[in-house]
Amino acid sequence: MSQKEFPAPEEARAELIEKYPTKVARKRAAQVIVNKVEPDEKVPEIKANTRTVPGIITQRGCCYAGCKGVVLGPTRDIINLVHGPIGCSFYAWLTRRNQTRPATDEDENFMTYCFSTDMKEEHIVFGGEKLLAAAIQEAYDQFHPKAIGVFATCPVGLIGDDIHQVCADKKKELGINVFAFSCEGYKGVSQSAGHHIANNQLFKHVIGNNDTPPEGKFNISLLGEYNIGGDAFVIEDILERCGINLVATFSGNSTIEGFERAHTADLNCVMCHRSINYVADMIEKKYGVPWIKVNFIGVEATSKSLRKIAQYFEDKKLMERVEKVISEEVAKIEPVRKEVFERCNGKKAMLFVGGSRAHHYQELFNEIGMKTIAAGYEFGHRDDYEGRKVLPDIQVDADSRNIEELEVTADPKRYQPRKPEKKLAELEKKGVDFKEYEGMMPTMEEGTLIIDDISEYETAKLIEMYKPDIFCAGIKEKYGIQKKGMPSRQLHSYDYGGPYAGFAGAANFWRDIDRSVNTRIWSYIQAPWERNSAEPMLEAQVIHL
Ligand code: SF4
Repeated sequence: MSQKEFPAPEEARAELIEKYPTKVARKRAAQVIVNKVEPDEKVPEIKANTRTVPGIITQRGCCYAGCKGVVLGPTRDIINLVHGPIGCSFYAWLTRRNQTRPATDEDENFMTYCFSTDMKEEHIVFGGEKLLAAAIQEAYDQFHPKAIGVFATCPVGLIGDDIHQVCADKKKELGINVFAFSCEGYKGVSQSAGHHIANNQLFKHVIGNNDTPPEGKFNISLLGEYNIGGDAFVIEDILERCGINLVATFSGNSTIEGFERAHTADLNCVMCHRSINYVADMIEKKYGVPWIKVNFIGVEATSKSLRKIAQYFEDKKLMERVEKVISEEVAKIEPVRKEVFERCNGKKAMLFVGGSRAHHYQELFNEIGMKTIAAGYEFGHRDDYEGRKVLPDIQVDADSRNIEELEVTADPKRYQPRKPEKKLAELEKKGVDFKEYEGMMPTMEEGTLIIDDISEYETAKLIEMYKPDIFCAGIKEKYGIQKKGMPSRQLHSYDYGGPYAGFAGAANFWRDIDRSVNTRIWSYIQAPWERNSAEPMLEAQVIHL
């Protein structure tokens, strides 16, 4: 379908919300925006990080999923113990999504396990603290881990188990780090609240516990890179070849020791701004480590991020190595890009996922000539759409106030600004932006649709109106989209593909997208409910035994 056949954006927007009752339509109108970028990069205001209207089928997950599933889960040597009924544990069991690579077969890897206290009715009635203490003990006896994290699910908050006290007692008794997260699923409006809670507790209980200085010359930590489908392996390889030492990753292919030493790095590089910007800010305040936004999704973005890191360290040799790695890698994948470009140029994508992903992946689509015509986040805040400059204007509501804001001050002994203010200002003039994230909207074209917390109904409507060539979302949306005869790529878990990060990952992504948008198979699919009603939905044969 060519661009001119698309509905006018304002008309599409009106159609998306016209069926809602007046009050709901008013709320959604503030969350469904036609993009417009002013010359000074100002964009329209969007309402985000507010509660989903009950009855609307949302993409969002719960607070516990953000804390346990996203931020803490991908660390292989912490036992992540879920205090709650077994259903919550299954939900956040990381089976394939995040990968990890222990140094040897003997090194711990608990990521394939699912640890749960398996609460039953009697614990809801009589309390679950004893059950939790016994589960911590059992986990310790079986595995002797370096640390145990405990995650509260909804019922734990309702019955008031003091998980922090249980953990403090077990910490003393066992002599290992045991800490808890009050991340009950009902807190906040989405998994975003869980990210914040995870950041706070990591900062209070783990970061700064080990002052061993880093081994490398150019020491960074990577924040908000979750090693989906092996992305971290690709990034680690690039950094190593450039001569950049990775002290810690939060949290992909990660270890507790990395977290404990994160404050010893000289630069923090933030990938997923939404899920982890709090840790970056707190490390800067307490230890003096500045942070920059990076993106290793897309060739241009990866090159730009590497150059930014090299510029920060102001080392000629490092800059040369970075340029060498970039040119070697680009030469390897450019033939793939050109070939895929021929077949994909002009096709259209829609991306509704995560709190940074719907922005990051637009780069990869651009590189093969595909435009993103509608996008939005599942759990983003206004700054993820409009840029960090809007932070002072964001109203703090009751749901956000529910999440603790830590008072962080400079550590009297360990605060050490990595560069003087004057030097940081000079670097900023050269394009190394500190504490900055421009957001999704300023980089998207005028007239594109930006939709926060898209609903199942709006997804179906968008597909009907625009018929894009691909709709990227998560597992919950995937099959509904495919039943409409539309390819869908999961950008939370990459289906069975990936890695998609860095240069080699870009080539994988392009090939996967090429296969998805250029196969004819989707045109043969018809949703069962759209078939001729005279035909039976299912056919079966009666067999007489
Ligand atoms: S919403 Fe509550 S009950 Fe449901 S998965 Fe999350 S923590 Fe468990």
